[in-house]
Amino acid sequence: MEPNQFNYSGPKLLNPKPFPAMKIMDDQNTKILATVGPASSSENMLLSLIKAGVDVFRLNFSHGTHEDHLAVINRITYINDKYGLHIGILADLQGPKLRVGEIEDNRLELKEGDILTFVNEECVGTMEKIYMSYDNFARDVKEGERVLVDDGKLVFQVIETNKIDTVKLKVLFGGILSSRKGVNLPNTKISLPSLTEKDHKDLDFILTQPVNWIALSFVRSADDLYYLQRRLDEVNHPAKIMAKIEKPEAIENIDSIIKACNAIMIARGDLGIEVPMERLPLIQKEVIAKCIQRARPVVVATQMMDSMITNPTPTRAEITDVANAVFDGADAVMLSGETSVGNHPIKVVEAMNRIIAETEKSYDPPVRPIAPQQSRTFLSDSVCFMAARMAEDVHAKAIVGMTSSGYTAFKVSSFRPRKQQIYIFSDRMHMLSTLNLVWGVRCFYYDRFTSTDETISDVNSILKAAEKVGKGDIVINTGSMPIHKRHRTNMLKITVID
Ligand code: PEP
Repeated sequence: MEPNQFNYSGPKLLNPKPFPAMKIMDDQNTKILATVGPASSSENMLLSLIKAGVDVFRLNFSHGTHEDHLAVINRITYINDKYGLHIGILADLQGPKLRVGEIEDNRLELKEGDILTFVNEECVGTMEKIYMSYDNFARDVKEGERVLVDDGKLVFQVIETNKIDTVKLKVLFGGILSSRKGVNLPNTKISLPSLTEKDHKDLDFILTQPVNWIALSFVRSADDLYYLQRRLDEVNHPAKIMAKIEKPEAIENIDSIIKACNAIMIARGDLGIEVPMERLPLIQKEVIAKCIQRARPVVVATQMMDSMITNPTPTRAEITDVANAVFDGADAVMLSGETSVGNHPIKVVEAMNRIIAETEKSYDPPVRPIAPQQSRTFLSDSVCFMAARMAEDVHAKAIVGMTSSGYTAFKVSSFRPRKQQIYIFSDRMHMLSTLNLVWGVRCFYYDRFTSTDETISDVNSILKAAEKVGKGDIVINTGSMPIHKRHRTNMLKITVID
């Protein structure tokens, strides 16, 4: 495969076409990541969700076929090309998630005291037997252990196992069991590889597609990420890796995992079952703080607006949850069932956007210490830090940077310049949509790297033409001199737009 095969090869859109009859919601710093599913996969819905404020779409490989995902990827790419947008795509691998199989008519009503039989041979689930995607289940569980299904909404207890292939369970808390719901075994150490056979097949497909991020589920240690990185390197795929934090082992190894990945997702659905639920708020705050410290984008996921799957407005607790993620400094907040299968996908994105906009008015990020001096990137980190600091001092309208690897964007953003938008220019089209996930970052295409003066003048003119800055505004330009050598960011300039 050719290097950078997903770089844009069409006309260079210096000034993207305006989105028809709409204002793109692009002032907010905190991004919205929305899961695509049957409720949102048509071109019209994708477009409406973008208008409502979605920055990145998530394809959940726990559901849907490659054909389904391909159709969505093509639609997003088409929309991006047509309107000069940089909406990102996240492919979320299922990982060693335990799930029940298909359920007859997608609905099995379970009552307290019902007895179920889980088997490890695929079948359509009924009250007689239900398939569970974990070959060693019967061997690993013990009588009396709890089995939690569908984010812990259904609770079963193991009453008997033949230690080979069949487990009998009693329903403690019932409800509706539908197809492919997740299963958690909070007391059991599961010995499965980080990438399952299904993940390998999904990855073979994903690596042929222009996705920006690949999320790995149930990461337990940094080692889980190295194999995925090797696969990306082998085919020279530019996607970046997001580690989903949803196991107690991941919390224990959080520093090395953050170091080894490009971004983190706090996957609260499984995490809230795998660790005592009352630990969740503090874990969220601590993981976000560590990610910001290391300049790794961090996503808060699951049940943010859950009630809007059916209701047209969020609960007060959900409003506060989204606001708290903004206050914690998350790069993005994620919607799952709300946009994939919910009744009100557009309303939920609009509501989330309003909460973010209002909360950000009072978001006051803590002052960040600069990177340690022994760091390899200390000099350019210092320039990025000073850009954020100076922008505040001089009341700049924007910080404007260049990037090839994305580093400057991640770094400047990590200093959370509250009052300035971060405009990033790159000649790597794929990178522009990758960076759409990052707090405060908005991207533009630019490929004329002739001289520093010319480039600064060009990028500022592009921003002025796009009405992002106006006459008299102060902007902080960062760059690398000499420009053709394309080294790390090493230069800062204050410009007054004329
Ligand atoms: C989660 O568990 O919170 C999560 C995002 O993962 P998934 O939706 O793949 O279960």
